[in-house]
Amino acid sequence: MKKRLLIIGAGGVGNVVTKKCARMEETYEEILLASRTKKKSDEIASESGPVPVSTARVDADKTEETVSLIRQFKPDLLINVALPYQDLPIMEACLETGVHYLDTANYEPKDKAKFEYSWQWDYHDRFAEAGITALLGCGFDPGVTNVFTAYGVKHYLDEIHYLDIVDCNAGDHGKAFATNFNPEINIREITQPGRYWENGAWKETDPLEIHTSVEYPRIGPRESYLLFHEELESLVKHFPSLKRARFWMTFSQQYITHLKVLQNVGMTSIEPIDFEGTLIQPLQFLKAVLPEPSSLGEGYQGETSIGCQMRGVKDGKERTVYIFNNCSHTEAYRDTKAQAVSFTTGVPASIGAKLMAEGTWLKPGVWNMEQFDPDPFMELLPKYGLPWEILVDIELAFTDITRDS
Ligand code: NDP
Repeated sequence: MKKRLLIIGAGGVGNVVTKKCARMEETYEEILLASRTKKKSDEIASESGPVPVSTARVDADKTEETVSLIRQFKPDLLINVALPYQDLPIMEACLETGVHYLDTANYEPKDKAKFEYSWQWDYHDRFAEAGITALLGCGFDPGVTNVFTAYGVKHYLDEIHYLDIVDCNAGDHGKAFATNFNPEINIREITQPGRYWENGAWKETDPLEIHTSVEYPRIGPRESYLLFHEELESLVKHFPSLKRARFWMTFSQQYITHLKVLQNVGMTSIEPIDFEGTLIQPLQFLKAVLPEPSSLGEGYQGETSIGCQMRGVKDGKERTVYIFNNCSHTEAYRDTKAQAVSFTTGVPASIGAKLMAEGTWLKPGVWNMEQFDPDPFMELLPKYGLPWEILVDIELAFTDITRDS
């Protein structure tokens, strides 16, 4: 039986998820796209189909507003692609109404730049008792990177020991400074201390302190910076044989210079300041003046390249496996009028939702991606625009790991 889908959030990712799901006629009978600003949902809906897409306004910070929307529309499943702040109020609404839940980023309180799974994992028993599924972090990273790891372990390794997740955006949007997903969330993430897992403990670094040049397939060498990223937390829990797990992301020198200046003048702070009698958060003000991620698509050149390098043992011998996807900004725009960062997040969310809607990935409780069978997800990725490749025993080159002091 075809399902009813509610999507919350009409930003860069919401645009891609809605367009992709609206092409899944075999899965959905109707979609409702709701967001804080209805006009943005209307624009996306007017470009989506053939599944009918209607729109509504909702403030998802308020559980009662989401509950009331759910009671009117009666969805089977909800995709949350608003902001991480809304995760818990939306999960509460799903519990109250018995609707399955999916998101792409873990909960983060507004007043503290800190993200971790504990808040959402605490919902496991309540979701299990209610007989509904919550699938967490179903974007690219987290999301596809968790599935790549699960797939590498399932098919190529008896035991995984080392994991390096590498995320490169080798694209050019022609702006002096812009972030590829929500600027507030993005800047909060990368200005935090770095963290990686080694020998059973987290090791902390200064923000962007450790960097190295990584040779990305069909792109070449790019300086990549060690960050803490949320999938590390669930992966080290679910693959306890990991001796080390790290996450690396590329930034251009121009991006880092802009970020440093903005930090130095206090524009990335989340501490409210008094401006002519009004309390404003500098980072929220900065978000308001930066380009919206959804506006970067047109004319964006180049590719993203994200993958998981794993090292472990198979049949008593050491083995490396690298699974990755390269995604072209131009192709993403042609398909959904989005840049590749929104595209690589929205496509996995639409695939995860499809697997839930069709009952392939459903089990009551709160789960991370690597806790489901990776095969059906890997099978659908190329079909919806994200082909992946796998290299066995060809290690990705990491050169000159530098630690700034
Ligand atoms: P955008 O800022 O482009 O979009 C966010 C949308 O959510 C906006 O339309 C916004 O409304 C809406 N929104 C914000 N607050 C509320 C609220 N209280 N109630 C209802 N709607 C609200 O962000 P992105 O699309 O780039 O990112 C969406 C999510 O995807 C984020 O959580 C981000 O962290 C995550 N992400 C995950 C990635 C992954 O690989 N896992 C990668 C990239 C992003 P308005 O238009 O009014 O501001």
